[in-house]
Amino acid sequence: MDFSLNAAQQALQARTRAFIAEHIMPMERDPRQTAHGPTEALRTELVAKARAAGLLTPHASKEAGGLGLSHADKAIVFEEAGYSPLGPVALNIHAPDEGNIHLMEIVATPAQKKRWLQPLIDGHTRSCFCMTEPSPGAGADPSMLQTVALQDGDDYLINTCFTGGHAVVRFDNLRVPATDVLGKVGEGFRYAQLRLAPARLTHCMRWLGAARRAHDVAADYARQRRAFGRSLVEHEGVGFMLADNEMELHIARLTVWHCAWVLDQGEKGRHESSQAKVICSEALWRIVDRSVQVLGGSGVTDETIVARIFRDMRAFRIYDGPSEVHRWSMANRIARG
Ligand SMILES: Cc1cc2nc3c(=O)[nH]c(=O)nc-3n(C[C@H](O)[C@H](O)[C@H](O)COP(=O)(O)OP(=O)(O)OC[C@H]3O[C@@H](n4cnc5c(N)ncnc54)[C@H](O)[C@@H]3O)c2cc1C
Repeated sequence: MDFSLNAAQQALQARTRAFIAEHIMPMERDPRQTAHGPTEALRTELVAKARAAGLLTPHASKEAGGLGLSHADKAIVFEEAGYSPLGPVALNIHAPDEGNIHLMEIVATPAQKKRWLQPLIDGHTRSCFCMTEPSPGAGADPSMLQTVALQDGDDYLINTCFTGGHAVVRFDNLRVPATDVLGKVGEGFRYAQLRLAPARLTHCMRWLGAARRAHDVAADYARQRRAFGRSLVEHEGVGFMLADNEMELHIARLTVWHCAWVLDQGEKGRHESSQAKVICSEALWRIVDRSVQVLGGSGVTDETIVARIFRDMRAFRIYDGPSEVHRWSMANRIARG
């Protein structure tokens, strides 16, 4: 395995880093942000910036207007985009759209791609992924899905309630023409699994960038802020926290790059992505937690971006499989011998 970046990857990394620093980070205090993300007006503006920079939807195939990135390329670009909470929205690589684009490129028919996928790739529409339901439906265990799609002539009728990450979606006799069914009937669970391994990994990539940002903010503060006659970083308790951050960023990045390499070999990478998801969500959480600690009282205010990263990062240990479910599935495999 060669983890060194080739010239094209280095150029893409530098271009994305500069784009985020110059065009996206200055917009982080834009008031058009809600608890559910940027307003549509702000999102459209951010997407227009990425489009102008040639960085919109870079993971989509070249034929569809993307950059046709490999998983290894994605690891580089997505980490840079994740450095700002607005970066993934600007590049159109946020969840769940990014994973949905990936799945539709594999499974959708040419007509479906034209109607549903292309506007999504072009940044004109949004998508959702509805799997989690209220009890007794699907949650950590997706096989408990209660929602049914019943054939009615040339259509399917979808019924039940879904809760998705930031919204509640209720389907009440939703009529879907059979031509809009994605892939083969009865294969939905398999397709969801197909989507999950790379989607888990891209979460790790984006959150890696966010954790690096939190660490950078904390390190700057620790170099400048003085207490008890010296800078904070010169106090072992603080310096060691920042050293731990650097080591865990390194481990998380290697874990991501290794899993990306496995997926680029054409492997399903389910085991590796599961491990990567647990390793990264927990290590990155510790990094952001330490960064808050180093920042003292300001760490829990919105004076810096760190408090926001801290709030958003917590959910990463829950979605796309809680840590306990990944460990449980690993333990089951170990038990089988
Ligand atoms: C920010 C965010 C975005 C999300 N986006 C989406 C989305 O786009 N689409 C969508 O469908 N869903 C989405 N979800 C939902 C997410 O996938 C679920 O929250 C997750 O699958 C867990 O399901 P649950 O909340 O029903 O928890 P439950 O199934 O009730 O589980 C609760 C807890 O029980 C424990 N647990 C469960 N099983 C085991 C086990 N075998 N061993 C040990 N402990 C266990 C875990 O600690 C788990 O956290 C999102 C969630 C969040 C927080």
